[in-house]
Amino acid sequence: MSAVPLTAEQNRETAAVAEVIAAGRAAALRHWVPATSGNFSVRINADRVAITRSGVDKGALTSADILIQPLDAPLLPRSSAEAPLHLALYRRDPSIGAIFHVHAPGSTVLSRVAGPGGLRLTGWELQKALPGITSHEQAIEVPVFANDQDTDRLAGLVEARLAAPTADGALLAPGYLLAGHGLYAWGTSPKEAARHLEALETLFEFELSYRRFTP
Ligand SMILES: [Zn+2]
Repeated sequence: MSAVPLTAEQNRETAAVAEVIAAGRAAALRHWVPATSGNFSVRINADRVAITRSGVDKGALTSADILIQPLDAPLLPRSSAEAPLHLALYRRDPSIGAIFHVHAPGSTVLSRVAGPGGLRLTGWELQKALPGITSHEQAIEVPVFANDQDTDRLAGLVEARLAAPTADGALLAPGYLLAGHGLYAWGTSPKEAARHLEALETLFEFELSYRRFTP
């Protein structure tokens, strides 16, 4: 008896799970997700995402560690406390295909140095890895929020900030910082989210080094 062929939807779900696992492993290799921290999600379709469950080593994920979470349903058992921050972004922007969250040294330290309000980046060639940036002279704003264990409340603050214009024509980064906590970055696909994550983390390292030499 031959196996029943997988539907396109089942294939999409399998691919999304594999992309979450790959993103977790890549971040672990960079030491961006220490001690089971961080979480990773990839959109399956308009209604569902694949997302890491709570409390697992992101460098050793298996498919059993990935939840298939509907966007408009209560959180599944074993969900991460930070899952609401992922789901809120997917609900507000249908173009978002993947969201990666890390507790990397650069974002965690610089978010405290910058303080609540926002971080301005300008003068770095690597900024051009971000969408809509064609010059190092373009200013980029990365919102910074005070950390909060109430992630539903935090998701509301993020939503309000992302809907508001930036001052001085600065472009909003495809990501935000939680002070003393880490970075959320996203893209239209897992590949783009990974590029944005790497660009932002590297820019934060540049900025931290630069600030040591400038008043
Ligand atoms: Zn976190």
